[in-house]
Formats: sequence, C-alpha cells, structure tokens
Amino acid sequence: MRSYLFFILTTILLQSELLLCAEINTFPAFSELPADYRAKTYTPENPLILHFSFGPEPINQIELRVVNNPRMKSDLFFFHMHNNEVTALKAGEKLVAKNGGTLIYLKHPHGQRDMKVRINNTNYTFDPNRIFTSKALAEKTQPIPNVDDLKELEKFVSWIKRTILKARANRLRPAVIALHNNTDDNIHGERLSILTEKKLLNSDNRMVHQNPNWDIDNFYTATWKSTFDFLMAIIQPNISLRLEKPRNIGYLSNWMIVENIEYILVETEHQDEENNLKMIEVLQAHLK
Ligand SMILES: [Zn+2]
Repeated sequence: MRSYLFFILTTILLQSELLLCAEINTFPAFSELPADYRAKTYTPENPLILHFSFGPEPINQIELRVVNNPRMKSDLFFFHMHNNEVTALKAGEKLVAKNGGTLIYLKHPHGQRDMKVRINNTNYTFDPNRIFTSKALAEKTQPIPNVDDLKELEKFVSWIKRTILKARANRLRPAVIALHNNTDDNIHGERLSILTEKKLLNSDNRMVHQNPNWDIDNFYTATWKSTFDFLMAIIQPNISLRLEKPRNIGYLSNWMIVENIEYILVETEHQDEENNLKMIEVLQAHLK
C-alpha cells in the first residue's frame, strides 16, 4: 500500500513539474486587442482585460484594461500608465463613459508609478514611461538587464506599442492622448510644471505658453505644432510643444515623435479632479 501511495505521489510530483516546465516554455504569454472591440461597450466597472505575463509569479501578471464607449459624440483614444495617478485614471473613465471613445490603462501588481517584474530570477524595476525607446529601456531599467532579459522586456514593450497603435487606428482623429498626474509644485518643490517645461526650451521643447490664470501644475504637451496652435486658439492653456528631436528619455512622446503620430499629454495635479475633467473634456469637445 505504501509503495503504491509513493508511486502515486511521485507521479503527481513529476507531472506538476512537467506542467511547470511546459508553462515556463510558453512565457512570456500575452493576449492581443481583438479587432472587434471597437463595436462593443466596455464600462469602467467591466473593462476588457488584456494580459501579459513574464512568468507564473504574481508580480509578473500585467494587464492593459480597455474601457470603450462607441457611437457617442466623441471618439478619442486615451492612455494611462502610472498606477498611482488615480485622479487622471478616474477622470478618463468618467469622461469616456460620458462622452465616448476609448481609455486603455496599464495595471500591474506593484500598483505604484514604477513597475517591478521578475525575469529569470532577477527583479527589475522600471518606470513605464522610460521604456518607449530601446536606448532608454536598456539604460534606465534597474538593474541594467542582460541580453536575454532585455529581449523579454522588449516583448513587453512591443505588446504595449502594438496595443496603442491598434487602439488609435480607425478613428476620425487618430491621436494618442496620455493622462498623467503630478505633485503640487507650490508644496513639494519644483518637479514638473509649466515652469519646468520652460526650462526645457531647446532641450525638449520648442515653444511653451503659460496662462497666468492656470495652476502651474496643469498643462498640456503637444508633439504637433498644429495641435499646439489649435489649443492656443481655443483656450490659451499652459502648453508646451516638443522639439522635433527632444532628448531620448524613453517617453511615450519620444516614440510618438518617431512615428509622427499626433500626441497630447494631459498633465494635472494629483487630486485636482475638477481641472483634470475640464482639461480632458475640452479635448473631447473640440478635437474632431
Ligand atoms: Zn504619470
């Protein structure tokens, strides 16, 4: 009896090990944005969930969640990537549900601005807004990835890029609009604001406009001069216009410039829900 039990146990163990091996061979695993998603409604409460996994560990389970509201007055595409920037995410969800369009947001178990993943027994940390050029991905990921692990990270970046390209396609205005929050510069010292955008003239920016009636932490960034001019004509906001060749930091905007895609960044102070909503809704009202 004992030997029979031993046999069963060994068989189970062997099989689970085999299963594990089979799983390891299939990583990274991922799902793609289906072509027909545009016809369907996905609410903020029940988004469509796309998966990417570097391996079976819980920390490696990454998602892109899709909120989609077709056949409404607006049809813009929004992208959110920093998990702790909750005001921007909520504002995006609310306004896609109200006015239409698509919001895709990145969700990962670490739940903070930076992502943490485990590849071949190494823990890597990176800011998802420093991965959009190969140079920055290789240089800014911590620790610096070896050749094999860098390849895995590149698969993740391609998955995000493919999803963004598919999501923006087939729209009247195929722009990519990124939603971010930043800290209050009046309280936390100078980090990111329309004032720091001015300091980046000739390194990242070619033009910057400051509206004295706006909070310095709330501003747009555009990659196309036509977008900059259009927003200036309607609301004279705080806004910066990127250079045709800004510093290569691995920003989403760096990649958008290379692809020559119309890109708008909506940067709002954390918890300033009122202005976050206004800044997004003005785009939905005017960008057709
Ligand atoms: Zn951000």
